[in-house]
Amino acid sequence: MNTDFQSTKDGAILMDGNVVAQKIQSSIATQLAKHSNANITLATVLIGEDQASQLYVGMKQRRAAAIGIQSKHIQLAGNISMQAATEEISKLVQDPHVHGILIQLPLPEQLDTNKIIDLLPAEKDVDGLSENNLGKLLRGEPGLVPCTPLGVMRLLEHYAIETSGKRAMVIGRSTLVGLPQVLLLGRKGTDATVTLAHSRSKDLIEITQSADIVVAAAGIAHLVTAAHIKPGAAVIDVGVTRTNHGICGDVDFDAVQAVAGAITPMPGGTGPMTVACLLENTLLAAQLQNVL
Ligand code: NAD
Repeated sequence: MNTDFQSTKDGAILMDGNVVAQKIQSSIATQLAKHSNANITLATVLIGEDQASQLYVGMKQRRAAAIGIQSKHIQLAGNISMQAATEEISKLVQDPHVHGILIQLPLPEQLDTNKIIDLLPAEKDVDGLSENNLGKLLRGEPGLVPCTPLGVMRLLEHYAIETSGKRAMVIGRSTLVGLPQVLLLGRKGTDATVTLAHSRSKDLIEITQSADIVVAAAGIAHLVTAAHIKPGAAVIDVGVTRTNHGICGDVDFDAVQAVAGAITPMPGGTGPMTVACLLENTLLAAQLQNVL
């Protein structure tokens, strides 16, 4: 056991996303420094004025700049038509100086999100959400993997949480988080036995109680309580609910840390890992385009 790990007040390992994200970002910076003549650019596209999205995009650009990845930002009006959005994004796709493209979600209602995402060629789709990259993930082929579930896997790796033959429970079935998470946990080499829960699932406590690893991505504040958790389980909180007092996760941290063997804080868990994995994907995108 690595004695550098921090613990919660009742002794669970604190899976600190800021620490692991920093390690990933330092490693990317080191790799980029070896190619000082290669200018890697991550383009971000923000459609509309959503405040949370503005914050996320700003943070992604700052973290990219800190490790030597350049940013290009495209701001589009919230009422943009499908045709105009398609034209703008197609220009970015054609730009040989842009290596990764992130379209900040959610998109305004008049836009077809899947069609917009599928404008991205697989090698520039750093969010890993195009049908091409999701298809590769399903088939077990190498490709760019969605950042949030990839960040969860990096946390499990860093804290040496055994996955092979273990029972994993994923709560939430979105294309952004839950479904790719199921594939990543269950794929060859990781080898967990995965159960997927969603809003129609019954007896969530009973099902979750047998899991060695729980990934909560429902977006329901404090959905996961101590009663859900098997003693010693690893609990990873992805959900984010905004309240008047700040942000709140899907996991009741204070109660669950007393039962869990390892747990992510919220904030400071999966959020920074999502950004680090976006940057990891940007490096991989540049490699796929033979820039590095
Ligand atoms: P989503 O709304 O698309 O999906 C939520 C899923 O939760 C659905 O599949 C739904 O069936 C399931 N669900 C809802 N209520 C449930 C219940 N009572 N029991 C079991 N399952 C239930 O959301 P999303 O895009 O997958 O995001 C999930 C959460 O993760 C949100 O809070 C979002 O803000 C957060 N998020 C965090 C990060 C991060 O970096 N930490 C990144 C992306 C999303």
